Amino acid sequence: MIIGERRVDGATDTSGGRPLPLTGQPLTETPVVVKEDGVSLRSYPEVCFPSEEPLADDEMRLICIGSGNPPVRRAQAGTGWLVQLGNGDNFIFDVGGGTVQNLWSLEIHPAYLDKLFLTHLHLDHAGDFHVLFDALGWARNTPLHVWGGSGPTPELGVAAFCKNMQKAALWHTESKKGLVPSGGMEIVAHEFDSSEFTPDNPRLLIYEENDVKVYAFPVAHILVGAVGYRLEWNGLSMTFHGDGEPCVFEAEQAAGADVFMHEAFLDAQTFSKKMNMPLPIAQNVAGAHSTPDRLGKLFDIAKPTLGVAYHYFQDDETIDPFFDAIKTTYNGPVALAQDLTVINVTPEQIIVRQAETDLLHWTPPGPEKDGSPQLDPKSPGVTPSFVTDTILPLE
Ligand SMILES: [Zn+2]
Ligand SMILES: [Zn+2]
Repeated sequence: MIIGERRVDGATDTSGGRPLPLTGQPLTETPVVVKEDGVSLRSYPEVCFPSEEPLADDEMRLICIGSGNPPVRRAQAGTGWLVQLGNGDNFIFDVGGGTVQNLWSLEIHPAYLDKLFLTHLHLDHAGDFHVLFDALGWARNTPLHVWGGSGPTPELGVAAFCKNMQKAALWHTESKKGLVPSGGMEIVAHEFDSSEFTPDNPRLLIYEENDVKVYAFPVAHILVGAVGYRLEWNGLSMTFHGDGEPCVFEAEQAAGADVFMHEAFLDAQTFSKKMNMPLPIAQNVAGAHSTPDRLGKLFDIAKPTLGVAYHYFQDDETIDPFFDAIKTTYNGPVALAQDLTVINVTPEQIIVRQAETDLLHWTPPGPEKDGSPQLDPKSPGVTPSFVTDTILPLE
């Protein structure tokens, strides 16, 4: 057993030289993309230890906290990204099942993780909501802010999602009253109106603070309310698409971004075979997503400095076909994100690496806090006395 570093049991490279996931190598043929010729480039360690690598004032760092989709796998959580800026801001984009383990391993104090942007409410993008809520509630003591679109009906929007998730966690939050501060168990939903998107108004500015702008734009993913986001700060930009079929419309919203992160999906035949799923059902599922060749066409329109795919089941039979297929339609730099793929973006270059994180980490120091915070009264619904009367006394 190895403690403190990742291990892939029995992994063998049968992929003709391309590294398998979790071997510490990024899945890209261009780990360094130079944006501006003739300027001196910054150097980075080959492997990123995020908690030990502070950002420069003019730097953006994107960390994949989940590269997969349902069902979650040990090596691939559902979808999620953390965006960190040199001004100290952190933004979480989607929180699919399993992502919080990866997020938490980055050793960022919960007080700095209070902004979540949801592209849509499929659980491979939102399924770790309660885990995030619980983990943060312990130590943050300020609300979790959640952005997302309205749905086709009020109960399908992100505000209703937050309300219902809070209701579902009611026993949890009641039980903690009087024991720990409750400020971190508050959720503030910032739902924007999806009906405001029109051909003349293709994107909405939904967040503007601290020189950071986040825009939302609609994507083609089954129901109204699915969106992508574009974040701009200090001359740097990233676009995160969430899920859906590739559209020229979204390529226009991502045009010229430093990094355009877009889902990719197995072709229906491979998906059917790997998942033991009837082909017609696999075709329905794959049809709501982006095969690599279609994604390449999208990147070719948007022309990001770096195109990044996630949401793609990886093994030694699927990685090479991804690159083979996308190369038929796109010849720009592309990376296939694994869990804990790290992308540093600066004015002069973009670097793609893998992170190593501690498997047995603890909560790092946070902002100064009041030593004796106010507690709510305890909930009256306590365990009955015929049980509590028999509690063994504390030594
Ligand atoms: Zn998905
Ligand atoms: Zn989806």
